[in-house]
Amino acid sequence: MAERVIPIVDQRKGALPAVVPAGAATPLGAQLIDAHQRPLRDLRISVTDRCNFRCSYCMPKDVFNKDYPYLPHSALLSFEEITRLARQFLRLGVHKIRLTGGEPLLRKHIERLIAQLADLRTLDGKVPDLTLTTNGSLLARKAQALRDAGLSRVTVSLDSLDDAIFRGMNDMDFPVAEVLSGIEAAQKAGLKHIKVNMVVKRGTNDHEILPMARHFRGSGITLRFIEYMDVGSTNGWRMDEVLPSDDVIRLLQSEFPLVPLAASSQGETARRWGYADASGKHDPSQGEVGVISSVTHAFCGDCNRARLSTEGQLYLCLFAEQGYDLRTLLRGTASDDELAAAIANIWQGRRDRYSELRASLPPDSGEHTKRRVEMSYIGG
Ligand code: SAM
Ligand code: SF4
Ligand code: SF4
Repeated sequence: MAERVIPIVDQRKGALPAVVPAGAATPLGAQLIDAHQRPLRDLRISVTDRCNFRCSYCMPKDVFNKDYPYLPHSALLSFEEITRLARQFLRLGVHKIRLTGGEPLLRKHIERLIAQLADLRTLDGKVPDLTLTTNGSLLARKAQALRDAGLSRVTVSLDSLDDAIFRGMNDMDFPVAEVLSGIEAAQKAGLKHIKVNMVVKRGTNDHEILPMARHFRGSGITLRFIEYMDVGSTNGWRMDEVLPSDDVIRLLQSEFPLVPLAASSQGETARRWGYADASGKHDPSQGEVGVISSVTHAFCGDCNRARLSTEGQLYLCLFAEQGYDLRTLLRGTASDDELAAAIANIWQGRRDRYSELRASLPPDSGEHTKRRVEMSYIGG
């Protein structure tokens, strides 16, 4: 068993960005790029640091117990604050917003936030692409209200169809049948492009890869296999529990003919494969699968994602050790232009490319056990 690193200091404290005078070298109303020429396109917002699951790869029970210092309600950004910030991000080129957490459906009246975000517009005057990642436990109850509020699509995390394995992986004895009803409710409510994310942990659920593929093939739902990542500092990550995506694809190909598909957008994290027909061509009625190889094939070169933590810290990378405190600006006297300028200033200085660098580091470099923010706080 790997030694578990438990954070003894609060990693959530962040630096305050300088308030840059609006207009000073800031392309307000234009697409922003970082120090590696990567545009800012995708904003992930964590709306709560709490969750009703205790997936061991994310919120292990022995750390996220009743003594864990979750954020008090006053620390959380309000829906109005989130919307005000999101508006500034859209002015700088963001076109997609993903709500996450923790479990985003635990945040009370989340549909009200969705309705506010759906009223915003991108630089080219379009409704932002609004999506949400959920563990699906409350989806059966909430899918219709989410759709009605303006959510366009949803991603559901599901690591196994086997009830015993699923109950073990969420560590709350939560039954798989309820998540499957949530997915069905999302389809009925008219949510489009539904995706299912499966984190693959070698030795835990890798034998569920083929059953999951059989279940979702031809259902209109895209299944994506995610490599188990060394996010945060509490999950006791070990490389030998990572099943490389290339192995996942080889396994799938032993049963289904697959053809590679082009990325559907720049900065897409998944490599896509289509189920092929007898002539070897992609058969759209059978759909596709994706692999997200954050460990074995870094995709930092195209990474266009910013992350806003539950309490308004801006993170430039999933593996960042520190965020930038936008909440202080938000609750102070900064104008919208000053807020946007501060965000622009931070993004323009961005050089983060952790996964690429990790690939070139020796395994014993200590990089994997550094104290980093938890995924439940920063949002996946
Ligand atoms: N609670 C929601 C859920 O599980 O969908 C949203 C938040 S969760 C942090 C977002 C995504 O991160 C989920 O798909 C989850 O499986 C993934 N995730 C969490 N920890 C991970 C890890 N160590 N490696 C890979 N993916 C992880
Ligand atoms: Fe909760 Fe999602 Fe983390 Fe699982 S992955 S513990 S459902 S936040
Ligand atoms: Fe983006 Fe950081 Fe992940 Fe690289 S490691 S893809 S920069 S979030």
